[in-house]
Amino acid sequence: MIKPIKRICVFCGSSHGIEPEYAAAARRFAGVLFDRGIALVYGGGSVGLMGVLADEVLHLGGEVFGVIPETLAVKELAHDGLTRMFVVSSMHERKARMAELSDGFVALPGGLGTFEELFEVMTWTQLGIYRKPIGVLNVCGYFDPLVQLMENAIAQRFLKSEHRSVILVDEDPAALLDRMADHTLPALPKWIRSEQT
Ligand code: AMP
Repeated sequence: MIKPIKRICVFCGSSHGIEPEYAAAARRFAGVLFDRGIALVYGGGSVGLMGVLADEVLHLGGEVFGVIPETLAVKELAHDGLTRMFVVSSMHERKARMAELSDGFVALPGGLGTFEELFEVMTWTQLGIYRKPIGVLNVCGYFDPLVQLMENAIAQRFLKSEHRSVILVDEDPAALLDRMADHTLPALPKWIRSEQT
C-alpha cells in the first residue's frame, strides 16, 4: 500500500533550458504542491529550474527541504532560504537522504544529474527497494525520447512490459500527482530490502 504523499522529491535541471515554458511549468508544479500541502524535497540548489521551483514554493508559503553534498554547498550554488537544508558528505548519501525524506519522486526537465537521479529511483523501484510512486512531468514533450527508449527496451526484451508502469508520465502537474496518489506499483518477483544494497 502506498503512503499518502506528504513530501515529494523533485529532480530537475540546474539550468533553465531553452523554452520559457520549462520555468513556467516548474512554477505551476510548485503551485499544485502548495495547494495540496505537499512539501518539496530537492537537491538544495539555487540555480536553474531547481531554484525556480524552490523559490516559488517558498514564495507561496510552502515547506522546502534541501539535501546538498558539502562539495556543492558553496554559497553561489546552495539555496540560503529553505525551511531546512541537510548538508551531507557525498552524492550517494544525498540520494539516500532525499529518498528517505519523501513519499514519491518527480522528474522535471533537466540534464545528466536529473537523468541519473531518475534512473536510480526507477531501477531501485524495479528491484523493489523503493515502493514509492515516480512521476515524470513531460513539459513540451521533453521526456518523449525516454518513453521511446523504454518502449524499445521492452521490444528488445531488456525490460519487462509490466515495468513500463514504474514511471507515470503526464504533462499536467495536477493530473500527474492524482495518478501518483492512486498508483499501484507492478508486482515484482523478488523484493530486496534497502539494507541489503
Ligand atoms: P542537471 O540535470 O545535470 O542540471 O542536474 C540537476 C540535478 O542534479 C538536481 O536534481 C540536483 O539534485 C543535482 N544537482 C546538479 N547540480 C546541482 C547544484 N549546483 N546544486 C544542487 N544540486 C545539483
